Parts: sequence; C-alpha cells; structure tokens
Amino acid sequence: MMIKRRRELEIMAEAAAINREALEAVEAAIAPGVTTAELNTIAEDAIVSRGGRPANKGYRGFPTTLCTSVNEVVVHGMPSNRPLVEGDIVSVDIGTFYRGYAADMAGTYPVGTISPEASRLLRTTERALYTGIGAALVGNRLGDVSAAIQVEVEAAGFWVVREFVGHGIGRDYHETPELPNFGRVGTGPRLRPGLVLAIEPMVTERPTSVQVLEDNWTAPTVDGSLAAHFEHTVAITEEGPWVLTGREAPRPIARGGGAHGA
Ligand code: MG
Repeated sequence: MMIKRRRELEIMAEAAAINREALEAVEAAIAPGVTTAELNTIAEDAIVSRGGRPANKGYRGFPTTLCTSVNEVVVHGMPSNRPLVEGDIVSVDIGTFYRGYAADMAGTYPVGTISPEASRLLRTTERALYTGIGAALVGNRLGDVSAAIQVEVEAAGFWVVREFVGHGIGRDYHETPELPNFGRVGTGPRLRPGLVLAIEPMVTERPTSVQVLEDNWTAPTVDGSLAAHFEHTVAITEEGPWVLTGREAPRPIARGGGAHGA
C-alpha cells in the first residue's frame, strides 16, 4: 500500500479541489433536456481552465472526461447526445490529475423530480459513503470500511455492487489496495497514516449483477435496477479521515506540523 507524505497529500488536496469544483459545475447544469455530452464539456472546461488534466479521458482508452451513468447504468456510461429526462438519475464520475497526482469523485443526481424510491437510493448511497469514511481510521482495517458500507446499505434494503470496487489513489489513478463495498470487520490490512483511498459505494435497488455492454464500458444492472454511486478521495491521517474532495477547506493534517514527513 502506497503511503503519501504530507507534502504529497497537500498536492492531492489541490487536485481534489479542482475535481470537486468541476463536479459542482456539472451538478449545477443537470436538468431535463440537457445532454450528458454537454455536461462532459462543462467538466472538461472546468478542469482544464484550473490547470488540471481529465483523468478519465484516455484511461485505458476511455474517450471522455466524465462517466455519465443514467438510471440502471452503474458506472462507466459514456456521455452522449441523448437528453436527460425528468425523473432520470445520473451518476457522474470525474477524475483530475494535477501536478502529478490524481483525485477521484462521483455523485448521483436527480433530473428534475424523481421517485421516492430513487430518492431513498441516492440518500442511502451517499450516507453509506460517509459511514465508510467514518471507519477510515488509523488502526482500523480495510475490511472495517467495507463492512461499514455494506451494513448501512443492506439495513436500508438495498444491494452493494460486487463487480466494481474502490481503490487506492495517488500518482496513479488506481492504486492498490482494492476496496470492496462488502466485507468483514477485522479483516484486511491495517490502515496507516498517508494511505489515500477512493471510497465509492455503488448500490442497486435489488440484489442483481452488473453486465458490460458491447462498447466494453457501459455497465448496467442485469435486471434493470436503478443504481447510485457516490465517491470521495480520502486520506487516512492521525487526526482522522481527511476528505480531500470534500467541500471543507483543506486543513493541516499532521499533529506537530508534519510528523509524517514532507
Ligand atoms: Mg474511483
């Protein structure tokens, strides 16, 4: 597992701020009639104008800045000229490289008014993300984060996706360790200060599996269940989880001003 120094975390926080601002610009534009291709343009302009580089674009050949996954698509949907429709939900996944480091973030948003069940799915998935972040503590194990997410989701009667997982992040967009959204308390490696994780619960309405379409990317549920996806890039620190992609301003992290090197 890759351990980052304080100075590296500070650069990652800058990458994460660019990424978050770009996602906020996208969120503000989501409405019936808007196309996901238009959202992609907004995201790319926001990242590039702040000196960043879109991390998804070109990653293993993925063509665009955003993944836009509508309704039953869990992840890796491609922006298109199909307008969003009132009642849709759209998951937006965005990544940014800045000064050699990556940040990763996602959220699922309502298009106009959505069903109460869809709304509950979104709220539950976002809550599960924060429950997982709450378990991302020095001395805990990776399985504690996974289990916290799974328990939260299943208590609400929903299902955690097994086919895709969270991951370490840093100089590479995807680093070890893998972080499943299911697991057992007390298992896996211990979390150490300086580990950075992309924590990203993917949740479906019903127990189902996920397929990949012929474009080799778009990953919808097999049974048509709606899917939601929330993600933050989170650094493990002695002072608790530092949500690098969070709205709060970056904060100093190391007790005693840089105990973890610089
Ligand atoms: Mg990710």
